[in-house]
Amino acid sequence: MREMRILVTNDDGIFSPGLLALAEVATRFGEVRVVAPDVEQSAMGHAITIQRPLQYHRAQLGPFEAYRVNGTPADCVALGLYHWDGADLVLSGINLGSNLGNEIWHSGTVAAARQAALLGVRAAAFSLALNGQEPAFTSLLPSVEQVVRLLLEFPAPLLVNINFPPEPAGIRWTRQSVRAYSGRVVEGQDPMGRRHYWFAAKPLTDPEEGTDRWAVEQGWVSLTPLRMDLTDREWLQKMEVNRKGVLS
Ligand code: MN
Repeated sequence: MREMRILVTNDDGIFSPGLLALAEVATRFGEVRVVAPDVEQSAMGHAITIQRPLQYHRAQLGPFEAYRVNGTPADCVALGLYHWDGADLVLSGINLGSNLGNEIWHSGTVAAARQAALLGVRAAAFSLALNGQEPAFTSLLPSVEQVVRLLLEFPAPLLVNINFPPEPAGIRWTRQSVRAYSGRVVEGQDPMGRRHYWFAAKPLTDPEEGTDRWAVEQGWVSLTPLRMDLTDREWLQKMEVNRKGVLS
């Protein structure tokens, strides 16, 4: 039987310690190839590069066969699967910072996994909630390995968003927290006195029980199965649309 092929990517860039940590775990399950952005692409969401050609270059990353791409996380997955003639699993991360609730919309880490799912390959996004300390990937690895084993041993959804607290106490399946969106514009001034802006998100408190944000706050590893279909089915049903899509 052919060994399982696992493509590892991220949005923090090819030199992120989180990428190396995830590749180290992946190598316990199969053949690993790393394809990641050459510079950080956090919060790029599911962007793809269409105004210029992309490049795919060999990179040095410990014992791993690795490539850097001058594009987005979604570009990396598309090029990585193309050059490897597909893969059995795509793992994205481990992101330096959580991707919980509405952060999922902006996340390049989740988008890389979603790009794999769009191309028909099972995928999972891994993110680590930071607590002001240096992220301790070495102590996190057993927990990451446990999650990958869980995804491989049981019927897993096509796309899973996984978030780790700094010190995991266990694993829970959760739903996405959608209670509030914290994005806001912050105004400032540069040293030359010019006005400038940051669009930033503030951490939310009081998340709903059973959600991703709640689980990570409780110290659980959060596994959220995501779907690709964004249709609001409840609304569609309320509209009493008949079979031909015409309002009755
Ligand atoms: Mn990132």
